[in-house]
Amino acid sequence: MTVAKSSFQISADFDSGNIDVLDISDPLQASLAIRPDTRSPHFQWFHFKASGLHVGQEHWFRLTNASKSSYSRAWTGYQAVASYDHVNWFRIPTIFEGDALRFNLEATQTHAWFAYFEPYSRGRHDWLIEQALSKAGTELLATGKSVEGRDIQLLRKGSGVEGQRKIWIIAQQHPGEHMAEWFMEGVLERLQRHDDAELNTLLAGADLYLVPNMNPDGAFHGHLRTNAMGQDLNRAWQNASQELSPEVVFVQQQMQKYGVDLFLDVHGDEEIPHVFAAGCEGNPGYTPRLEQLEEQFRSHLKHQTRDFQTTHGYPRSQPGHANMTLACNSVGEQYDCLSLTLEMPFKDHDDNPNPYTGWSGKRSMQLGKDVLSTFASLVNNLR
Ligand code: ZN
Repeated sequence: MTVAKSSFQISADFDSGNIDVLDISDPLQASLAIRPDTRSPHFQWFHFKASGLHVGQEHWFRLTNASKSSYSRAWTGYQAVASYDHVNWFRIPTIFEGDALRFNLEATQTHAWFAYFEPYSRGRHDWLIEQALSKAGTELLATGKSVEGRDIQLLRKGSGVEGQRKIWIIAQQHPGEHMAEWFMEGVLERLQRHDDAELNTLLAGADLYLVPNMNPDGAFHGHLRTNAMGQDLNRAWQNASQELSPEVVFVQQQMQKYGVDLFLDVHGDEEIPHVFAAGCEGNPGYTPRLEQLEEQFRSHLKHQTRDFQTTHGYPRSQPGHANMTLACNSVGEQYDCLSLTLEMPFKDHDDNPNPYTGWSGKRSMQLGKDVLSTFASLVNNLR
């Protein structure tokens, strides 16, 4: 069979793109590598477009440096996602060979995108902020700047009057964890409802402070873990600086200004195929009150949706041994409040699997909506 080599191309020169082309002389066996984050050895996120696919043929893509990635064990049991329109994403057959990750697509169209997870684009982020302001009734309370000058919006739902609890949700400190901003889109979509009794209960007692994307530079550059200075923002909450981590400085200043009664930091986990929440049990200031609130959160959300569970998750910290550089622990300690890291999988939520999409943007959105029900159940107990 004759294959026109010249028509086959791989590109990643776009928002959240990440791939290096090593050898595509055989279009059916592309040899690629994931590019590390800027000023950091971390890598795992990939996102690229293949053009000139041969319809009806099986194209293989080989990520040759997968075994050297930040979470190499996480490739086992993982399936890549692909899309023909950058809107509808589906899982494709994927094999981790011990050194490289290989996946294939039997092409039905001449071009397709491939990614570690369904990407949340900067264009959609801009649209989301506009929807939040025009339809969800939020105000733009403040705008921070990333290292490279991208906007970090802080939205507020509620008037800020005295007595209201302050509930904070931040997302995508780790820029490759795109499910986190899908989650925020779900939150903001539910805020558009008017005849929602649970939502009204929540908003009667609390204002919501929302940061849909804390690391826009990292997301734009296709990073897994860091900002443009190579800083892992979720390890910077004890020593954030304007030079290295202005994104964290901004959110900390705003928290100082308004206060915090509940904090949720939204993430994705590479390895564990379940949705789960991690708490502050290792904090020096952890108390039975906080433990009870954590238990109420988990118990309610578990009954609210099959897309949350409490069996699998991170090992619990020993008392007094929390890593205080994490946002969850730092904020929980400083404000003596319920403070959680919510983790969604890059793989699937095995308790309620979907073989076609795995965990997805849509499911992340639904979880964002469901979490507001859980907040409504807790709002009068937070203090
Ligand atoms: Zn994370």
